[in-house]
Amino acid sequence: MAKILDGKIMSEVLRSEIAERVVRLKARGVTPGLAVILVGNDPASEIYVRNKGKGCQEVGIHSETVKLPEDTSQEVLEREIERLNCDPAIHGILVQLPLPAGLDEAAALARILPEKDVDGFHLLNAGRLLTGEAGVIPCTPRGALHMIRQTGRDLNGLEAVVIGRSNIVGKPMAALLLRENCTVTICHSRTQNLKEHTRRADILVAAVGKAGFVTGDMIKPGAIVIDVGINRVDGKVKGDVDFDSAAPVAGWITPVPGGVGKMTITMLLQNTLEAAERMS
Ligand code: NAD
Repeated sequence: MAKILDGKIMSEVLRSEIAERVVRLKARGVTPGLAVILVGNDPASEIYVRNKGKGCQEVGIHSETVKLPEDTSQEVLEREIERLNCDPAIHGILVQLPLPAGLDEAAALARILPEKDVDGFHLLNAGRLLTGEAGVIPCTPRGALHMIRQTGRDLNGLEAVVIGRSNIVGKPMAALLLRENCTVTICHSRTQNLKEHTRRADILVAAVGKAGFVTGDMIKPGAIVIDVGINRVDGKVKGDVDFDSAAPVAGWITPVPGGVGKMTITMLLQNTLEAAERMS
């Protein structure tokens, strides 16, 4: 039976370390600050933004939410980003995605000062991740890698399979695992014989967006299984991995809820703290 990689416990440990570093920074006269831009009234986005604010409060990071109406123009959005770029009290800027239809996400993200890009979605930070230079690492893959490291396994040369190739999860996750010297395969919606790939994986990361997509028969015995999925089914949150069939086969597994999702906000706090430390 798989050992549980508990995102709640790991987050608590990390958040108390972050809180201590925030205290040290405040003693030098700097309070780390995060600004979240929320455009429109998407209920899921509102919940995420509220949780980010709560996380900041917990560790002593100043946070503010800039709420803009659904019909905000690209120009107004980018002007708001520029204003925050110049605000010395703000070390991290995050544009809550998805933006309402008609707004250009890529153009908005490109406006954020790369040093303040705590989501790590700016092209410069994406490029740095690929070339191995120091930059901001996207929160979800960073959290997932932290969980993988907690297994204590030597990652060198392990077979890693990432299902999903999005810019916010799949691709940066694959780049991070490559940096850890894993042999990395990225699978996606056009992949043939998916199971043949996943059954080779010592590390299997599922970032598909389909509840229960990965079943026990797709998993190599003893594998590290990281479930990134957040899917709402009948009012409940379900992962991309079918926990009941996967857990008896895997060596380690992350639960949903209480797994990667919890780590994502923690890594946002860490990225904001590190941005403030670098700027002061
Ligand atoms: P996305 O929709 O952008 O990407 C999904 C990927 O899955 C695509 O690259 C697609 O090629 C692949 N895919 C779809 N069907 C497939 C199939 N049949 N076989 C193989 N691959 C297939 O989604 P995303 O933004 O990367 O998010 C993925 C999941 O992770 C979602 O459930 C999302 O809610 C969740 N998520 C969680 C967190 C977190 O904090 N835990 C953060 C971001 C996203």
